[in-house]
Amino acid sequence: MQTLRDIDSVSRLSQLWRARNLRLALVPTMGFLHEGHLSLIRLARQHADRVMVSIFVNPTQFGPNEDLASYPRDFARDEQLCRQEGVDAVFYPEPAGMYAADHSTWVDEESLSGGLCGASRPGHFRGVCTVVLKLFNISGCQLAVFGRKDAQQALVIQRMVRDLNVPVRLLLAPLLREADGLALSSRNKYLSLAERQNALSIYQGLQEAEAEYKSGCRDAARLCEIPRRRISQAGGRIDYIELVSQDSLQALDPVKAPALLALAAYFGKTRLIDNIFLD
Ligand code: AMP
Repeated sequence: MQTLRDIDSVSRLSQLWRARNLRLALVPTMGFLHEGHLSLIRLARQHADRVMVSIFVNPTQFGPNEDLASYPRDFARDEQLCRQEGVDAVFYPEPAGMYAADHSTWVDEESLSGGLCGASRPGHFRGVCTVVLKLFNISGCQLAVFGRKDAQQALVIQRMVRDLNVPVRLLLAPLLREADGLALSSRNKYLSLAERQNALSIYQGLQEAEAEYKSGCRDAARLCEIPRRRISQAGGRIDYIELVSQDSLQALDPVKAPALLALAAYFGKTRLIDNIFLD
């Protein structure tokens, strides 16, 4: 496995693979890898001849009061996990190598980015789209894998790829959870034991809402109220809970499949996101 720190070495390697007709899949991450990330790597492996993982805590997708500085990092461990998974190359750039001091070009998706996480994190998806397009261009990948944990992000990137004719095929991987239901996330590291325990209310609430939906309820407010109450009772602070269409992310009431019940909530200072698909 090669670890590459600069853009030119990535381009050289990717050109070499392309000349040999080897299909490259990129798995973009911010590192501090967990089983969720590894499931993306395994999916990439199934569809491509070469797998590259990028590890980059992208500063442009963090707001001024967010956790850029404290975001968990452990490159040695990430590198070891990638090696174990048979990854061919890890791209681990420096922020200064990714963004020129006078960087001034941005990709702004203007429809799907507005609600949900985009409403509470202005500029977040502009940073995400810009870095993802840069990573696609640098790596020259034919495929890229994203997780449904970040359901809105996956949709926004799909839209960007369609709208800008980006020649990359996207693969989406299911959301992976801990045995007790907590969605795997690098940010879980911030949680105290008590916060982690309380955060189980997120998935419990989502599951209860799903059961209510399956038993016939189509009232969006009522379905959202179920996780809202559970999370609040467990001491969580809700950022948003919404029932939206899986394609347009527009609010649905009455609920009609395919729908997405998505939420963000704080436990202590940690903002967690989760979602469930109602098909
Ligand atoms: P991150 O490092 O958090 O930016 O995530 C990198 C990629 O891994 C994104 O496509 C995420 O959607 C995906 N991912 C993160 N957590 C999970 C999870 N629990 N299950 C599936 N995919 C995940």
